Amino acid sequence: MEIYVHIPFCERKCNYCDFLSGPADENTKQIYTDALITEIKKRAQSLSRGNKVTSIYFGGGTPSVMTPAQLGAIYTAIGHEFVIDRDAEITIEVNPKSGRDKLHYLREIGFNRLSIGMQSSHKSELELLGRIHTYDDFAECFIDARDAGFKNISVDIMTAIPGQTEQMLSATINKVLDFSPEHISTYSLIIEKGTPFYERFGDIEGPVVGEETERKLYWMTVDMLKDKGYKHYEISNFAKPGFESRHNTGYWKRVHYLGVGLGASSCLPEKEFDARMRNTTDLATYVKDPLAQEEYNVLTKNEMIEETIYLGLRMMDGVDTDAFESKFGCTVRSLYGDTIDDLVAQGLVYEGAGSLSLSDLGIDYGNHVFAQFLK
Ligand code: SF4
Repeated sequence: MEIYVHIPFCERKCNYCDFLSGPADENTKQIYTDALITEIKKRAQSLSRGNKVTSIYFGGGTPSVMTPAQLGAIYTAIGHEFVIDRDAEITIEVNPKSGRDKLHYLREIGFNRLSIGMQSSHKSELELLGRIHTYDDFAECFIDARDAGFKNISVDIMTAIPGQTEQMLSATINKVLDFSPEHISTYSLIIEKGTPFYERFGDIEGPVVGEETERKLYWMTVDMLKDKGYKHYEISNFAKPGFESRHNTGYWKRVHYLGVGLGASSCLPEKEFDARMRNTTDLATYVKDPLAQEEYNVLTKNEMIEETIYLGLRMMDGVDTDAFESKFGCTVRSLYGDTIDDLVAQGLVYEGAGSLSLSDLGIDYGNHVFAQFLK
């Protein structure tokens, strides 16, 4: 089992962000910490004690805006209530202005993986995005993180930023590669409703830079990172051998996970099927009742099958069709033979011995391919 901890606070809201996050005062952060610890204790009581936790992920928001004492208290509560695997991957998302002392503290209490939201090395792009940091902040943060003992660091890069050229993106990528992080995530900017970018760029479908440019930037990124020895293991994720994100891989492989915190989602076993649930997204409701949920769906077998396929196809190794057969008692081909034949004929998927995966063309048309497996 994996655990996700949602910290919904940031220093300032970025111009493109529609995540459940925003600035908060110190009092609110402390009240939230107390509610989170209550939730962790109560959820642990209702779960089987035998489950070993293989990954813990503090995401947000920006978890590093919390004080060391608050992060330590949340981490300690998890350690008290759950059996954490000796080799567990324990990640925290940090902004590049987290500061040396906090990074040292995080490593000391047990975090062993950092995810740094760098996004771009260009001042103009960072300002456009509304980020609070500079490239120099990122560089200092990375050096401090290594100094604190982090041997597994992921860096986020944003692509398809309005006005971004291939030269600009390749400069950002090269500046990240200078630090040789173990993992790199790249995300194409999409304009979301309710954000300042939506007001500015309008209700456009797809990337602001246009589909063709977005694809060019994507494949340039893939080529540059593969060339430097990174494995392209998921549509948007790259890792040095052995450093694939366990948390994200678990999600794509449908490993059970408990999400705690405001709006956090979980996928947990419910008799023979799985249930997907989501905590309340209202902060006042959450601090009053940290077990309040706004969604609780027990999946049908068919829904679990669909999820297994479209999440599995995000991984470059694809869906493990042997594991699928063991789990569901039928083959992928017996359910989707005609669909697979059509997609193979169009060059969108490969069917190998024991796997079904996207081709390069299939990556470009990923959403279309995934939709074919939804009944
Ligand atoms: S730091 Fe991340 S979560 Fe916070 S506003 Fe910016 S993009 Fe959103």
